[in-house]
Amino acid sequence: MAEIHELSDILANQIAAGEVIERPASVVKELVENAIDANSQQIDILVEEAGVKSIRIIDDGDGIDADQVTKAFLRHATSKITSRNDLFRVHSLGFRGEALPSIASVADVVLETATAGAEQGKRVHYKGGELLEEIGTGARKGTDITVSDIFFNTPARLKYLKSQSTELAQIVDVINRLALSYPEIGFRLSHNGNEVMRTAGNGNLQQVIAAIYGVQQARKMQAIQAEDNDFEVSGYISLPELTRASRSYISVLINGRYIKNYNLTKALIKGYGSKLMVGRFPIAVLQITMDPLLVDVNVHPQKHEVRLSKESQLMALIEQAVKDRFANENLIPNAYENY
Ligand code: ADP
Ligand code: MG
Repeated sequence: MAEIHELSDILANQIAAGEVIERPASVVKELVENAIDANSQQIDILVEEAGVKSIRIIDDGDGIDADQVTKAFLRHATSKITSRNDLFRVHSLGFRGEALPSIASVADVVLETATAGAEQGKRVHYKGGELLEEIGTGARKGTDITVSDIFFNTPARLKYLKSQSTELAQIVDVINRLALSYPEIGFRLSHNGNEVMRTAGNGNLQQVIAAIYGVQQARKMQAIQAEDNDFEVSGYISLPELTRASRSYISVLINGRYIKNYNLTKALIKGYGSKLMVGRFPIAVLQITMDPLLVDVNVHPQKHEVRLSKESQLMALIEQAVKDRFANENLIPNAYENY
C-alpha cells in the first residue's frame, strides 16, 4: 500500500465540490444565498447557456473587506459562525465555508467586491483552485461574481449534466424559492440576455407569488396564519380548486431556508381533507419561524434536508391552520357560479 498522506487543498476542495456543486443550479443557489446573507436588497442573476457557459451574480450587499477576499476562498473559512454553539443557532443560510473554494476548484471564477466606505475594492481570479490574479479595483459597494467553464476539469461531472432546458429549469426553481423566501429582496433573473423573472423586493409575498405562478393563480391563494409556543406559521395556500399534478408547487421555508420535508408537506395536504382530488396538490408557500435550536441544518451538504425537534407538533399546527382556513367555506356555491 502507498504511504498515507494529506490531500492537497485543491484536491480536497474538488472532493467537497462533488457534494456541494452538482450542477449550475447549485452554483446559483450557493452564490445567491451568499448575497442574501450579505444583506443585499437587490440581486441580479445573469445566466448564459443554462449556466454551463457562465453565471454572474451582482449584489448590493455588505461586500468583503479587500484584505479578506482570498480568505473567503479557503476551505472551511466563513464569517458566519465561530464556535460550536453557533452551529446550533445558525441564522444565516451559509455556515460551512465550502461554497467559494468548491466552486473555484471546478470552474473559472472572477469575484469583485467592496465594502461600504472602502477606498478600494478587490478583484480576484481563480481557475481550477488556483489564484491567477489579485488586484485593487473601484469601490462599488457589493459583490459581483462570475463563474464560467463549470466542470472544465471534471469531465465526468460535465457529461452528467442534462439538457439546457432541464438545467435552466433547475436554476429558475432555485431563484423562485429564494424569491418566495425573501419578498423584501428584489431578484432579477436573465438567461442569454432575456429576462426570465423579476420581483419588486417590496416585501409583498402575494406579489412574488403572482410573479412566479401568475396573477390569476395568486388571486386564488388564501393567507394563513397560526402559532403555538414553539412555531409560527404564515403564508399563502391555494383554494382547493387551484391544484397541480405534483407536490413541487408547495414551498416550505424554515427560518427563511427552503427545505424539503415530506412530513410537513403531507400535513399541509392532510389539512385539505377530501377537498383535493386524488393525485392533485395545492400551490402553497409556508413560512415557518422557530427558535434555531429546534432545527438542525447541518444534516446535508446542500442543506436541503433538516432535522426538526417537535416535528409532529408542527405537523399538527400546519394541518389545523389549513383546516381552519377552509372550515367555514361551503364549496358548493362556487360550483353554482359556473352556470
Ligand atoms: P459560507 O457562506 O458558508 O460562509 P462561502 O464559501 O459561501 O461560505 O463564503 C465564504 C465567505 O465569503 C462568507 O462567510 C462571507 O464572509 C464571504 N462572502 C461570500 N460571498 C459574499 C457576498 N456575496 N457578499 C459578502 N460576503 C460574501
Ligand atoms: Mg455560502
